[in-house]
Amino acid sequence: MQERIGAKHISSGDLLRAAIADGSELGRAARAFMDRGDLVPDGLVIDMIDQRLKKNGADPSFMLDGFPRTVHQAEALEAMLAGRHIPLDHVVSLQVPREELVRRLSGRRTCGQCGAMYHVSLDPPRQPGVCDRCGGELSQREDDREEIVRARLDVYHKETAPLTAFYRQRDLLREIDGTGTTGQVLDRILARLNTHH
Ligand code: AMP
Repeated sequence: MQERIGAKHISSGDLLRAAIADGSELGRAARAFMDRGDLVPDGLVIDMIDQRLKKNGADPSFMLDGFPRTVHQAEALEAMLAGRHIPLDHVVSLQVPREELVRRLSGRRTCGQCGAMYHVSLDPPRQPGVCDRCGGELSQREDDREEIVRARLDVYHKETAPLTAFYRQRDLLREIDGTGTTGQVLDRILARLNTHH
């Protein structure tokens, strides 16, 4: 995906999971929120992204995944980018029915070694529980259990959905059908981004 879009992938969820794996102060503070499916407090996430962008230097080609998730985070991002003279080109919002999201997330399995992702029925590994690419062990994210997925979707509607209006107002919102295969969705995203310059 990074190659086809031509931008580095920066995922707030991946950064938080790495912080937990490292046992850092941020990881210790974030863990309980994540396990419950709640958002990690804005201040922690904003600082984390600010640090990550600092590391990125002057390179403006990146896509943020999972950030911002609140209006407060979106305002902080605007300030961060303005300070670095980096324009925001697009905000992609993938549209997927709730029950399809529950099915996708609760069936997701991730390789603990290389990070490859599978789905128990939509994209199963050749041998259950074992990564095709590296032989690593597959596991389910704690927050991908069905009841937590439902809580995460409720949080999305309450905290994150208001961003739709925020970015529509700025003419940055690209709402895209997120149903179908990953290949189909990526093709739709690329087609849409290429028509907005
Ligand atoms: P994700 O991998 O994007 O699904 O994120 C997993 C979890 O990490 C979320 O359910 C939140 O608990 C936390 N998280 C990730 N990104 C953010 C964010 N921008 N703001 C607050 N919490 C976040």
